Amino acid sequence: MTMQAQTETTSWDAFLKEMQERCSKAEYQNWIAPIHLVEAKDGQLVLEVPNIFVQEYFLQNYRKNLPNTDISFVIAQQKAPVASPVLAQAPSDHSSLKLNNQYTFEHFIEGPSNQFVKSAAIGVATHPGRSYNPLFIHGGVGLGKTHLLHAIGHYIRSHHKKLRIQCITTEEFINDIVDHLKSKSMDKLKKHYRSLDVLLVDDIQFLQNRLNFEEEFCSTFEALIHQNKQIVITSDKPPAQLKLSERLIARMEWGLVAHIGPPDLETRVAILQHKAEMKGLRVPSKVAFFIAEHIFNNVRQLEGAINRLSAFSKHLNQDVSEEIVENTLGELFQHAPDKKVTVENILKCVATLFEVRESDITGSSRAKQVALPRQVAMYLAKELVSESLMRLASSFGGKTHSTLLHAWKKIRNQLERDETLKKQVQMARRNLEN
Ligand code: ADP
Ligand code: MG
Repeated sequence: MTMQAQTETTSWDAFLKEMQERCSKAEYQNWIAPIHLVEAKDGQLVLEVPNIFVQEYFLQNYRKNLPNTDISFVIAQQKAPVASPVLAQAPSDHSSLKLNNQYTFEHFIEGPSNQFVKSAAIGVATHPGRSYNPLFIHGGVGLGKTHLLHAIGHYIRSHHKKLRIQCITTEEFINDIVDHLKSKSMDKLKKHYRSLDVLLVDDIQFLQNRLNFEEEFCSTFEALIHQNKQIVITSDKPPAQLKLSERLIARMEWGLVAHIGPPDLETRVAILQHKAEMKGLRVPSKVAFFIAEHIFNNVRQLEGAINRLSAFSKHLNQDVSEEIVENTLGELFQHAPDKKVTVENILKCVATLFEVRESDITGSSRAKQVALPRQVAMYLAKELVSESLMRLASSFGGKTHSTLLHAWKKIRNQLERDETLKKQVQMARRNLEN
């Protein structure tokens, strides 16, 4: 082992140690223990994760604890899902409802892409248990799902004071179960959940591949729904695309399934100006349009842009001009990923996403369940890897360049009409480029 490699392994070890001290045992077991160090060299850590959700969770929650390190991920070949029995600390307390203060209906800017879902959310908040039940909100990252969920919570808390509400992320739900299993107080937990009037659950996609927890969730769900207690669920995909039991999927489709899409330009400008105003920052509308034109598929990034601009303009003591914007937000505007995407990454990513084997993709079966992932992989290869068509095609088990071109055209056309496919491709892209 070189000196360099040694230092990096140590930085990973130190990270693990720190997390072990800081996280609950359940959190550690659920989100950190499944990550394995594959390689550490040249200022880079390569981590193996069981699926992209663990990866995204890591990026959102723990990435900052490994500063000055480049991290890339590989996704482990899928094994049969096992829910590990985990030991943990004392059961958590439910008395407090944790909601982000900014996430209210008033602060949620409406546009064509979210009008429907916002009005459904308001309907549920004004008549809990009596309008749509469950309300299932799905859409991509950073489009306001958590915001709306909390907005429902705020509204109910202030307008229906007697109702018992709980707002919980799916990982908190899992950790809760784990904790109660350990302390042999599952009955208490079941009783707690079944006594709620409103259950708000964020990011249900994290329940995938967690069989035992899924069962518990499903029975809680049924118990509540049967008493007309309101349930709201958010997810990054529609129910049918979640890898969950048919029973639970069917339950989640009982009520209203509402999609939240990326906001159009006008809405992005309105969001930007609203967020700027809240920070006391004046952004001329020309500048707001300029930013909104460059950042288009994620509201969280718009917010990040505002935060940076605000810091810079205070620091420089200057008003926000297009020039400041270009200087401070240059990186955010870049579309080209700095990480090189390879056909190998694409095969891995697409295989996981569509639950097929890599060898199916490079093989020659024409069965529909492998033909589509193969075409998607080819599409992504042509879009993201700068190699000749011939070379790309040969990486797919020796196909011809016209096969690849045909696949690319087909998927490109299909993307215009097929919302589901579009989501899948976007997800793959995001994962490949990050
Ligand atoms: P998601 O849960 O869908 O990933 P969030 O609800 O966390 O996204 O939203 C990301 C950020 O974008 C939050 O700060 C939220 O306030 C903001 N946001 C998203 N959509 C809107 C909107 N329509 N109006 C105002 N802010 C929004
Ligand atoms: Mg969210």
